[in-house]
Amino acid sequence: MPESILQTVFGYSTFRPLQHDIINHTLTNQDSLILMPTGGGKSLCYQIPALASHGCTVVISPLISLMHDQVLNLQQLGIKARVYNSSLSQYERHEVIKQFHEGELSLLYLSPEQLIMDGFLESLTQTSINLFAIDEAHCISEWGHDFRPSYRELNKIKPMFPHIPIMALTATATQQVIRDIKQQLNIPQATCFQGSFDRPNLFYEIRPKQDTYKQIRHEIKQRPNQSGIIYCQSRKTVDSVTTKLTKDGINAKAYHAGLSTQTREQNQTDFKHDQTTIIVATIAFGMGIDKPDIRFVIHYDLPKTIENYYQETGRAGRDGLASQCILFYSYADTQKYENFIKHLSNKNEQKNALTKLQQMTDFAFKPLCRRKQLLTYFDEKTSFTNCQTCDVCVNPPEQWDASVISQKILSCIYRVQERFGAMMITDILKGNKNPRIQQWNLDKLSVYNIEQDLSNSQIRDVIHYLTFIEAIKIKGDTYPTLTLTEKARPILKGHQPIHVPIYHYKKTKKKKPNADLSNTNPDLFEALRQTRLHLAKEKQVPPFMIFSDKTLLDMSNKKPQNYDDFLDIHGVGIKKADSFAKAFLNTIKING
Ligand code: ADP
Ligand code: ZN
Repeated sequence: MPESILQTVFGYSTFRPLQHDIINHTLTNQDSLILMPTGGGKSLCYQIPALASHGCTVVISPLISLMHDQVLNLQQLGIKARVYNSSLSQYERHEVIKQFHEGELSLLYLSPEQLIMDGFLESLTQTSINLFAIDEAHCISEWGHDFRPSYRELNKIKPMFPHIPIMALTATATQQVIRDIKQQLNIPQATCFQGSFDRPNLFYEIRPKQDTYKQIRHEIKQRPNQSGIIYCQSRKTVDSVTTKLTKDGINAKAYHAGLSTQTREQNQTDFKHDQTTIIVATIAFGMGIDKPDIRFVIHYDLPKTIENYYQETGRAGRDGLASQCILFYSYADTQKYENFIKHLSNKNEQKNALTKLQQMTDFAFKPLCRRKQLLTYFDEKTSFTNCQTCDVCVNPPEQWDASVISQKILSCIYRVQERFGAMMITDILKGNKNPRIQQWNLDKLSVYNIEQDLSNSQIRDVIHYLTFIEAIKIKGDTYPTLTLTEKARPILKGHQPIHVPIYHYKKTKKKKPNADLSNTNPDLFEALRQTRLHLAKEKQVPPFMIFSDKTLLDMSNKKPQNYDDFLDIHGVGIKKADSFAKAFLNTIKING
């Protein structure tokens, strides 16, 4: 039964890992907690049980815009789903409740605030409910990053509906958050289904922050008509990048908290409806969008934590097609945030933020498989040695021999008796102007002005690298000073060579990762895209709700000639075949 729903309604031929187990588990009325990455296919885990059993599934979701999108999407598949919330008119609200009580709905989407509004939950007892699905369940925990007090009230569900299964779903949860979710929802026995956090279709890459704008423009121009997000740290950068792109003839829109709500919403809608391909945004952008065909995410600036990086890059390639994540990194970003963090008044918060920043910096610095580093960060064991889809694995960075400069740095730290930070050490080695050098008589040291070849920032990179391999430790919060560890000794004595990966400040030639989209008949694909755009405008829905890129790709490869062939295409269920076969078959006939 679940298999046939998967095929006839959603048009997919196989379940993704865990989906089948979760669905069967739910169909035997058991509680569950689902931990899967963005794009892992969580929604299907409750949508199929909703269709496979009698009654209605109640879905709790925190964002009204997302609920509307999900429901619109389900309606395209011929599924009876509705949203119920304060944005509806009195008449619509009445209509939804009537449909619900008459058993006409398969899924009802609600905000937590709506569910706990006076008497609402009690009123549900009169209707046959088959499942409560709680999306973004980490919002229930103060330890999670989006704590939402009204989620706490969801603890009333279990006592009131002891025999109805609860499914809690999230893409981000630590062990502490998992415990909290189970406890708060009164589902201590819930089975935890934890999927891998690997996103195999994402290509991770880090590049030095040099000519960044030019590189971004180049990346965009290489991908005409493909959707992408460019994340920047500040509103100012967002505005300046958007202006430059627009001047260069690229259809880009900005998104940040400084714009009016109306402009922001309009820009987001344009992006969703493929009216603009590029969104330049601060991290305020993303929560409210689940566009499946975002082909690339670029970080203009360093994210502050690995969690942020994972979540933001995770918005690429939800449809499973190859997508790219490029981060532009310079050590200056780390320093900038460090300064900012040091001004935080709460010491605990400060410490936490510094640790997270250090982890993010190490991630950018280590010449190790990006994927392996990410998965290890999320406590996932990996067995591969080469992931084939990150810059380090595909194109291992060259290394340069930094043994001599490392010795100079360590020796300088020793000679100043470990009293100064990285900036002063650099200034001494370079003989830079710095009044404190004379003040402390540091120009008399044998290490003064002994480095002519390398630039300040190159020396800073090596210092950072030596910190990373723990030959240097940083002590002190207000005035951080560099100190030597045991590991410095063999380097100083020349027994241990130091090789620093070159990608930190030199451009290396990059091999292109595989891009699924380039393999097809591009003219036919473009014609199919136009047909999709036309139908989307006619029906006033985002194009991805007509068909995903993956579906168009399958169509341009297989070139179906009739209705039956059309049903075999990935992502084509009966309802969509009935609605759209004619238009697309016609496009194939003309352009194929
Ligand atoms: P999540 O909620 O975990 O972020 P979604 O449920 O939105 O992920 O699924 C991401 C995309 O993958 C959607 O476009 C969905 O239709 C698709 N998908 C889900 N399950 C399957 C499957 N078994 N086969 C093919 N595509 C699937
Ligand atoms: Zn790798």
